[in-house]
Amino acid sequence: MRTLAVLGATGSIGASTLDVVARHPDKYRVGVLAAHRSVDALADLCASFRPELTVIADPDCEAQLRERLRRDGVACRVESGAEALIAAAAGAHCDTVVAAIVGAAGLESTLAAARAGKRLLLANKEAVVMAGALLADALAEGGGELLPLDSEHNAVFQCLPREHDDLAAAGVRRILLTASGGPFRGRKAADLAAITPEQACAHPNWRMGRKISVDSATLMNKGLEVIEAHHLFRAPAERIEVVVHPQSVVHSLVEYADGSVLGQFGNPDMRTAIAYALAWPQRIDAGVSALDLIKIARLDFEAPDLDTFRCLRLAYEALAAGGQATIVLNAANEEAVAAFLDGRLPFLAIAGTIEHCLGLARTEAASDLATVLDADLTARRHAQRMIATLSA
Ligand code: NAD
Ligand code: MG
Repeated sequence: MRTLAVLGATGSIGASTLDVVARHPDKYRVGVLAAHRSVDALADLCASFRPELTVIADPDCEAQLRERLRRDGVACRVESGAEALIAAAAGAHCDTVVAAIVGAAGLESTLAAARAGKRLLLANKEAVVMAGALLADALAEGGGELLPLDSEHNAVFQCLPREHDDLAAAGVRRILLTASGGPFRGRKAADLAAITPEQACAHPNWRMGRKISVDSATLMNKGLEVIEAHHLFRAPAERIEVVVHPQSVVHSLVEYADGSVLGQFGNPDMRTAIAYALAWPQRIDAGVSALDLIKIARLDFEAPDLDTFRCLRLAYEALAAGGQATIVLNAANEEAVAAFLDGRLPFLAIAGTIEHCLGLARTEAASDLATVLDADLTARRHAQRMIATLSA
């Protein structure tokens, strides 16, 4: 029996995780549920899954959550704040942590879970982009395992040999990350000037949170995933290639020295990756319908358009630059996407904001958490100033 902490329980990944968990009450139980500030959604999940502990990150929501749970007769400890979240990720109420908080807000709880030796089911790619080396150290220190939830990385993990510490020794030539291309595939910059948040969030194949939906529309999501793959699989950037595949059926591939290419196929449903990571090395039912290849009929592949979707190019550049560039890339992107979703920044200015901030990135590596957080904060200030100028 595994006992889970679901951090980001009220989000899209949180919901898919709890859907799989509910199908296997004999295998999984929920010890901790955590979310940002959606009191009602979190209280409803507590009533269904009966965790021992629930954490609401925003302390202003704690009293309201307590009252809701008391009224509903749900006996569960309630804590709040960022420190409580970190303690819960490392604490005794779980052996498995689902890191499904969006953005830099998930960094410290992800690191804490790794350091505590939990099985880490990682969706929070921003944590890897900010602090891939620190996460590797924390995993080594804790001795637990990381299983990627991001569908591409989950696919790559499935296509690699069980021992893959050294990709070259395992005969791996390239990792091929597939990308749907997002809602604006095939368009040129001139067509994208007046894009609204609703258009950007209308992804053709996946239903996701709003931040990652915008990242998919700009292709920054794929850029973050290239950096994520670099860290998770210790792969140099030149061995990670992006292939646009609009059907989102091939979730990614691994090419070997003998010319073999192994891919993982499935319907675009995150529950497959989540079930795989939950049960690894076994397999369980995920509630996902069977892949109907005859109905799909064809699979298309094309090169990404790096001139229109500049964010993907910027991510490759940040990875090559090293130093604090990927921290800056992530922070500036989070600020720019938030501003776009608020109607304060045009869609096409997202890339420009990030490029401006990358020009200010420090070249020395961030070798501890304090330096990472400082670089993140500084980049956010630079981005906010740029956004204010652009929207004035
Ligand atoms: P979402 O917006 O649907 O949910 C985000 C969750 O994080 C919510 O539960 C929210 O309460 C919580 N949260 C936000 N800020 C917080 C804070 N400051 N403290 C504590 N909790 C906070 O997002 P999502 O689509 O579920 O994505 C979550 C993560 O998974 C992201 O890093 C995303 O890139 C990654 N991911 C998502 C998908 C997908 O299909 N949705 C696929 C691959 C990777
Ligand atoms: Mg992905």
